[in-house]
Amino acid sequence: MDFELGEEQKMIVEAASDIAKDFGPEYWREKDRNHEFPEGFWKALVEAGFTGIVIPEEYGGGGMGMFEMVLAMETLASEGCGLAGEWFLCLTSVFGGLTIVKHGNEGQKQKYLPKIAKGSEFCLALTEADAGTNTLNTRTMAVKDGDGYVINGQKMFISGADRAKGMVLLARTTPLEKAEKRTLGLSLFVVDLPDPAVEVVPIEKHGIHYSETAEVFISDLRVSEESLLGERGKGWYLVLDTLNPERMSFSAAACGIGLLAIGKAVEYAKERRVFAAPIGSHQAVQFPLAEAKAKIEAARLLNYEAAWLYDKGKRCGAEANMAKVAAVEAGTEAVYHAMQTFGGYGYAVEYDVERWWREVNLIRLAPVTQQMALAFIGEHVLGLPKSY
Ligand SMILES: Cc1cc2nc3c(=O)[nH]c(=O)nc-3n(C[C@H](O)[C@H](O)[C@H](O)COP(=O)(O)OP(=O)(O)OC[C@H]3O[C@@H](n4cnc5c(N)ncnc54)[C@H](O)[C@@H]3O)c2cc1C
Repeated sequence: MDFELGEEQKMIVEAASDIAKDFGPEYWREKDRNHEFPEGFWKALVEAGFTGIVIPEEYGGGGMGMFEMVLAMETLASEGCGLAGEWFLCLTSVFGGLTIVKHGNEGQKQKYLPKIAKGSEFCLALTEADAGTNTLNTRTMAVKDGDGYVINGQKMFISGADRAKGMVLLARTTPLEKAEKRTLGLSLFVVDLPDPAVEVVPIEKHGIHYSETAEVFISDLRVSEESLLGERGKGWYLVLDTLNPERMSFSAAACGIGLLAIGKAVEYAKERRVFAAPIGSHQAVQFPLAEAKAKIEAARLLNYEAAWLYDKGKRCGAEANMAKVAAVEAGTEAVYHAMQTFGGYGYAVEYDVERWWREVNLIRLAPVTQQMALAFIGEHVLGLPKSY
């Protein structure tokens, strides 16, 4: 694998870095405090073509892949935006864009991809309160009705649903009890929003206050046959395809946030003196930051490998899950030690580390918990018996 970046990739990194400079920590502090959607930032991402990175050129995108997306997300995070860049790009471009690129028919591609490239927002609705991690227990039902479907159900923790113009939705087309296999009878739909049959109720949460995550109630939502993505009943296998790029996205964010926090902590540790020497000269301050840096750099490489494999159409589940575990551990460790470096100031909103702490901790829980990523590695990489 050749890690030297090509011209286009260097341009992505440069463009991401320029955007991040225009929307630094002060901007995010304010958006987070005021629970305000970052309109200016989103506009900048769209105008720079970031929402179209993974969309083929014939649909108005950049025709690149997850490797470039990971570079963009990581740079946006490490240069000052924290989780925000990854969050919005993942919702629209990975959940919406990449799913349709991979599984949409020509009509769906023509309808949605040019809009996504121009920043039409998307969300992904998989999680349900009673199913949780066990997505196969999805209860939302899509019942065939004439030349379409009627959908009823309830989704939990759906990020961006309040603003999205499109939602990729997982529903059962065969009830679990009647399905030939647990993995069959699930179908994936692409739904236009807003729709009076879809009620979006935001959930108050710990961080990322500049974007909503919501409970979604679906009551007699009518969709046409053209809304079905891929083959009816095979939706689970389509979803699996989206989960790896989702992991890569969040790993990029964890590494980026970690690097951002280390950068700020190092700056501070060089200046801050409480005894004779700057605090950064004490091994107890310096070594944890050095260790976190080493772990982040290792996680980054693994994540690049996962993205590279994905773009080549190769199996990447092992790398994507291992990168996710490593990136989350390294990223949270970095922010934790950055907070310690700042002492009491690490707890003050003004120094931003507490916000990054709230952001990076999400990645331990979502899109997949550390435990479930470890379960994947245990079973599929180590060949141990399934643990659940
Ligand atoms: C801010 C936020 C945004 C989100 N955005 C989205 C979104 O846009 N779309 C979407 O569909 N979902 C979204 N989610 C949902 C997220 O993916 C789930 O919360 C996550 O997958 C865990 O599901 P759960 O919360 O029901 O936990 P549970 O499944 O109830 O798990 C609880 C705990 O038990 C552990 N556990 C469960 N089973 C096992 C097992 N077999 N072995 C070991 N440990 C186990 C889990 O690892 C976890 O620690 C979001 C969540 C949050 C918090």
